[in-house]
Formats: sequence, C-alpha cells, structure tokens
Amino acid sequence: MSNPKVVCEVNTCTHWLPGEICGAANIDILNEEERQAKSPEHTECKTFSERSGLANLVGSADNVNWWGAIEAALIPNRELSPTVTCVVESCSYWADGNLCDAKEISVSGDEAKECQDTNCETFTTA
Ligand code: SF4
Ligand code: SF4
Repeated sequence: MSNPKVVCEVNTCTHWLPGEICGAANIDILNEEERQAKSPEHTECKTFSERSGLANLVGSADNVNWWGAIEAALIPNRELSPTVTCVVESCSYWADGNLCDAKEISVSGDEAKECQDTNCETFTTA
C-alpha cells in the first residue's frame, strides 16, 4: 500500500510550502470530535500549527521532512509529501493500521487558525 500524496491549501500552517506542499514528516488526520466523521467537515489535520513568527518555526522543527526536502531540491520530479496517519475509520479510504488508501488527499482550511478549521476533503463514505 502506498502513502497518499498530500495536497494542502492551508497556507496559515507552519508546515505549508508554496505549491500546496506539506513539509511535515508525518500528518495525523483525526475525527473532529469523539464521533466518527460523516463528512469532510468532521475531520481535521491535527498536525496543523499556526504560522506565527520564529518561535513557531523553531517549535515545529522536530516534525520536518528534512530528507524529503533535500531530495525534492536535488532530484527532478521528486515530490515532497508527508506520511499520513489517519484514525477516521468511517472513511472508505481508511485501511488497517491507521493507513489511508487514497492516491492523493486534499487538505483544506482557508484562513485556518486551529486544527478544527482544517478538513480532509478527500473523506468519503461512497
Ligand atoms: S494543515 Fe496539515 S497537511 Fe496542511 S501543511 Fe499543515 S500539517 Fe501539512
Ligand atoms: S481520505 Fe479518508 S482515510 Fe484518507 S486521510 Fe482522508 S479521512 Fe483519512
């Protein structure tokens, strides 16, 4: 099983890079509340961290895909994307081991200020 490519529009996140890229090493997709999600709005990217100056950059340095960033810079067509850990079992793409079986996921959250403002738009029960 391959890990999905992550396409993210949340440019208020400290992990976000131009080109809708997530520079985190791993992201956690969760249900927004205790209940299992029934729509994308019920999901969130728990790894979201609001971009707010240098302290924030330093604080997030332990979850950066440094090797991926170096590879992306050096190897043409090498795409930077985090591993995805997802606990949203109600999603059709969810697989044993908290894996996601989608080819690509879209993370949304225009002007997001906290995790709850973000969604996995690829969530589906179809
Ligand atoms: S919101 Fe999530 S997927 Fe998007 S850049 Fe931040 S950590 Fe990555
Ligand atoms: S598409 Fe589904 S299984 Fe994959 S990360 Fe999103 S909610 Fe989780």
